[in-house]
Amino acid sequence: MTVSVNRELCYGSYECAFRVPSVFTTADGLGAVIPGREDTDDDPGVRETAERCPSQAIGLG
Ligand code: SF4
Repeated sequence: MTVSVNRELCYGSYECAFRVPSVFTTADGLGAVIPGREDTDDDPGVRETAERCPSQAIGLG
């Protein structure tokens, strides 16, 4: 499963970095995927975080 953050949509609530700090971080005031963590196992926590992102900025592939 691949994970990405659409920086056009994200507004920097940081909920992703708070919920799953092993995958998400913050960069330049926005949420981001930690470099090297774009490919993750099918993690329910990541899926839930994507569903709960207030701007629907987290993409799963
Ligand atoms: S939860 Fe969504 S809006 Fe908030 S920082 Fe993460 S990607 Fe951005």
